[in-house]
Amino acid sequence: MSTLLDKARALDTADPLARFRSEFWIPPHDGGTDQLYFTGNSLGLQPRRLQAEMDRELAHWKAHAVEGHFKGDFPWMPYHENLRDPLAALVGARPAEVVAMNSLTVNLHLMMVSFFRPQGRRCKILIERQPFPSDRYAVESQLRFHGLDPLECLVELGSEASERLIEESLVEDYLSQHGDEVALVLWPGVHYASGQLFDLARITCAAHHKGAKVGFDLAHAAGNVPLSLHEDGPDFAAWCSYKYLNSGPGAVAGCFVHERHHASDAATGELPRFHGWWGADPQSRFLMGPEFVPAAGADAWQLSNPPILAMAPLRVSLDLFHEAGMQSLREKSIRMTGWLEKQLKDHFPALLEIITPADPNRRGCQLSLRVRDGRVRGRKLFHFLQENGAITDWREPDVIRVAPVPLYNSFEDCARLCQLFEAFGELS
Ligand SMILES: *Cc1c(COP(=O)(O)O)cnc(C)c1O
Repeated sequence: MSTLLDKARALDTADPLARFRSEFWIPPHDGGTDQLYFTGNSLGLQPRRLQAEMDRELAHWKAHAVEGHFKGDFPWMPYHENLRDPLAALVGARPAEVVAMNSLTVNLHLMMVSFFRPQGRRCKILIERQPFPSDRYAVESQLRFHGLDPLECLVELGSEASERLIEESLVEDYLSQHGDEVALVLWPGVHYASGQLFDLARITCAAHHKGAKVGFDLAHAAGNVPLSLHEDGPDFAAWCSYKYLNSGPGAVAGCFVHERHHASDAATGELPRFHGWWGADPQSRFLMGPEFVPAAGADAWQLSNPPILAMAPLRVSLDLFHEAGMQSLREKSIRMTGWLEKQLKDHFPALLEIITPADPNRRGCQLSLRVRDGRVRGRKLFHFLQENGAITDWREPDVIRVAPVPLYNSFEDCARLCQLFEAFGELS
């Protein structure tokens, strides 16, 4: 296994993105060497540049108070506009289609206010079986809000075990048979449990073909895989920024509304939407008049003036993504996750089964590992990793998720993780 470490170090030396690791604070294990941090899919690491940026915002407030809205390099009044272009680039959208606001579940609700419009027979929401709990609570409460019974109107597709893969054809088949009963398809970009990446264009096409609206929860996709939301054409999408986007716990989230809905709604008001003053056209917002004139594009869905101290980390993060480039990150991600997968398959087939798809086009960086022989051994392994400085996460009943993140993880991290699997095997 020491030759594995040598091989990993050689791969790190040849990695054009290796320098980005030093842009992040990697927590030390027991005050010593870097943790093997494999949970960037849960909470991304803090960029080292952030402290100065936060200090700058605090100093700006201290020095200018209310005039900070108009002064300095990043005046607060148009602050969210600074995030628009890099955010659009990250998710493959046109700038007017994206906005940074609120948090993910809030945005899902705001989007469903506009895009879940049950009418007659067409009243169902289609989601994956065993979705992330917040998404389930959100769709169930939306159904009840419209006077509908989730038992009848919430359709979950997929097999019983959440880690099983869900073929896109299952969605297509359901829609081709029952599509006229479906009002909304709400689907993940990357499944949080299995790590499966879905073909968003295919799901969008199947939903639209049957007259259903479609939205994506990109919590595990944004910053993990390149996206092309405008081209793929969903009606909306939403994502959080504290996972792969490294913007801190509870960070300001992102939202996408396809361009096709911008003009129609501004002109005719046919899309219902909850309004607040920050969604008003900036030209007339401060006239403080009674009439709501919507801002152009996704901005119109904003409610409140944005939390600047919480937006600064997102700005820093998007700079880093811009510098590294999503395509280069994806190339490294495919290499690094593939390398880790190969080591696991070669050396630990008796310990671990990989449930994430083997095809790189059907996954991001995360690998979900089922520990063979179940829960007790699995928990033991998980705690062994933790005690030895490898941070992974545990999903009941028997899955350990590891996410080698191309911005800051190294091949050496992956090799060291394998050494721990080996050491555990020798112990047990
Ligand atoms: C992480 C995650 C959430 C979290 O929702 P918040 O509103 O950000 O707390 C929701 N849905 C999915 C699929 C997630 O992965």
